[in-house]
Amino acid sequence: MTAAASFCDLTLDELAASLAAPAGEDAPEPGRAVRSPSAAHVFGALHRVARWSTDDRGHRAPILGRAAAAAVAARLDLRLPQIVEAEPSSDGATKLLLALADGARVEAVHMPRAVRNPRVTLCISSQVGCAMGCTFCRTAQMGLVRNLDAAEIVGQVFAVVLALGPVDPQRISIVFMGMGEPLHNLDAVLRAVRILCEPAGMGLSPQRITVSTSGLVAGIEALARAEVRPALALSVNATTDEARARIMPVTRRNSLAALRSALLAFPLRSHEKITLEYVLLAGENDGDDDAARLAAFAAGMRHNINVIPWNPFTDGGFARPDDARTMAFVARLRDAGCLVTVRKSRGRDVAGACGQLATDTVRVRRSAPAGPR
Ligand code: SF4
Repeated sequence: MTAAASFCDLTLDELAASLAAPAGEDAPEPGRAVRSPSAAHVFGALHRVARWSTDDRGHRAPILGRAAAAAVAARLDLRLPQIVEAEPSSDGATKLLLALADGARVEAVHMPRAVRNPRVTLCISSQVGCAMGCTFCRTAQMGLVRNLDAAEIVGQVFAVVLALGPVDPQRISIVFMGMGEPLHNLDAVLRAVRILCEPAGMGLSPQRITVSTSGLVAGIEALARAEVRPALALSVNATTDEARARIMPVTRRNSLAALRSALLAFPLRSHEKITLEYVLLAGENDGDDDAARLAAFAAGMRHNINVIPWNPFTDGGFARPDDARTMAFVARLRDAGCLVTVRKSRGRDVAGACGQLATDTVRVRRSAPAGPR
């Protein structure tokens, strides 16, 4: 007899195999399984927030017929990461602290686009802490505690949407820009993306899911081959290897030239762009020369440069550029033919903005399975 699997960890085929097997026994090999006619229905009931109800005591559960409920109860674990803190920001974003089954904590941010527009972007975590050591990022100060598995990533999304909406999954966009380097945990991230994009469930479009990397060339190449491929963002942040290595140690093994080659080879869908994020640090990477080199880096690729004035945190060691400097940098890029947006960081007043996420999870040097570097 095997332990009940989290419903967040199963693809539709795996759920079908599980439902086809007698309760409490191992499921047959996925290739040999006959899909239960009710598997898509059960998957939809489990993965669509609109199909969950709340009882008198506030307990949430999917609405299932008696037979399906019994089958699910015998096979699946319906527990989700627990939201232990929710800090609303004055700009409408909410920073959430979620506790995982082993007590580890991760943060997510729920960002409605505008008060009257129910479209929501969820910024979620792929790891507890992070191994990449970017000097401008608060998560880096935790070190890497462990990878999240696919169930914890899907569960994080589901728990946040269950708490704060939206009910309609077509209004959800996801960015892997919370804690962790998603390409350092690529297998779990891609499995989670597959489950989130399953049409019988949430049915998210992979084009509305963005994986943001600090720059792991092998990871970008592996992502390019993914069957259900999310969009790609690269956190550039400096324009020479020397300067980049000072703030992003990942550069020592992944040069800007190698990253540029990987991006140029990345297969894009029609209208798709690669996002080049650039955290602007006053006096560090915001010079006119930097703008010229960044434009040269972007030349020849379909891109959108997202300039992010640095979000301060205690002991951060950098300064946020003033608005005039930011706009001068942006103007240089535009003059060079780049498509540029300036990120209006959400949740700054609750330390939920880009680079500000970190939890008090104790760092334990447990080795996480190494991802591509
Ligand atoms: S910026 Fe991203 S990759 Fe770099 S340390 Fe922070 S979480 Fe990790």
